[in-house]
Amino acid sequence: MADHVPGSKVDVSSIACGRLTINLSALAENYRLLAAKVAPAACAAVVKADAYGLGIEKVVPVLVQAGARLFFAALPEEGRKVRRLLDAMGASADVYVLAGLVPGTAALYLDEGVIPVLNDLAQVENWARLSTERNGTPLPCALHIDSGMNRLGLDSEELERLLSQPQLLAALDLRVIMSHLCSADEPDNSLNDEQHTLFSRALSRLPKSAASLANSSGIFLGQRFHFDLARPGIALYGCNPTPGKPNPMHQVVTLEGKILQVRGIDAPQSVGYGATYRVTGPGRIATVGVGYADGYLRSLSNKGRAFAQGVALPLVGRVSMDLTTFDISALAEGSLKPGDWVELIGENVTLDEVGHTAGTIGYEILTDLGRRYHRVYEDA
Ligand SMILES: *Cc1c(COP(=O)(O)O)cnc(C)c1O
Repeated sequence: MADHVPGSKVDVSSIACGRLTINLSALAENYRLLAAKVAPAACAAVVKADAYGLGIEKVVPVLVQAGARLFFAALPEEGRKVRRLLDAMGASADVYVLAGLVPGTAALYLDEGVIPVLNDLAQVENWARLSTERNGTPLPCALHIDSGMNRLGLDSEELERLLSQPQLLAALDLRVIMSHLCSADEPDNSLNDEQHTLFSRALSRLPKSAASLANSSGIFLGQRFHFDLARPGIALYGCNPTPGKPNPMHQVVTLEGKILQVRGIDAPQSVGYGATYRVTGPGRIATVGVGYADGYLRSLSNKGRAFAQGVALPLVGRVSMDLTTFDISALAEGSLKPGDWVELIGENVTLDEVGHTAGTIGYEILTDLGRRYHRVYEDA
């Protein structure tokens, strides 16, 4: 192998120790699948946290192409980026910011065409006042009614005060009324019905507007949770919105780690920091160039697994900053060597599995995905 040609440019893809492949066709397919499932309701796309770590620059255009016309970001700055991206594409789609009209953000919403989700009565009052000041042109907004999450949104007392001042909402272009489910991934949890009831009751008292309750898992609770607009995030990116059942979504993310060294161990020895794993018999350890600095969580130590050549390879010892060790004794000697890739997340070791093994959820695995990986976006 000619590894080094003097004067040649270094190929980043060939020196990377982690390779993150994002399948944009699967992403588009997931959007279409969810949109078809909620039709005739509309389907927004939640692209907060840089599209759950996958990169808004690549993800948003694919979702637009697949038919998405409404986007939710979490933070004001994210909303601004998504808005600019859509403008640069010439796409006519709306961008809502879940954080809402927090102090310091009015100019963003007024001047950059980003739409606030109003989360409390003070935000409604401020937005109505700004509407009036602007020649009375009603400004666009969404209204967030809390139905049990107790995180953002108007509580029941604020809702009563809002309803007693109809001139406030009359001053606004209220496009979406939303609430958020806290236990949608548990279909048997009675909180789902309780939230549905509270939300429906609020809707019946508010001006007619597009109603939105379901996140990814909420979509799978049944049609009555769809209302006019669904707001999936995680299912677009391939996690299972129906835990315990087969994943209806296509896999979007594959993470591979490169083997840096393979070592045979004959006598009993320990592996890694803290000597938390002992190899007893003869065996082989592969050291992979991905670690917790890449978002490959340390809590996977002695629990995770990789996959190669049809075989699961146990993660042994502690995950360190840049390195992780796997027991590859199950594979024939010489079948894995430095430079080979093993699957860390993908078809065999799913995002949901990695999240569960690490004591967290696929969401956190995605949003922690490291910056050192060589990213490969497979075409839509
Ligand atoms: C994050 C979020 C969503 C999307 O949730 P998923 O579980 O990722 O589908 C929808 N609505 C709100 C308010 C959110 O914060």
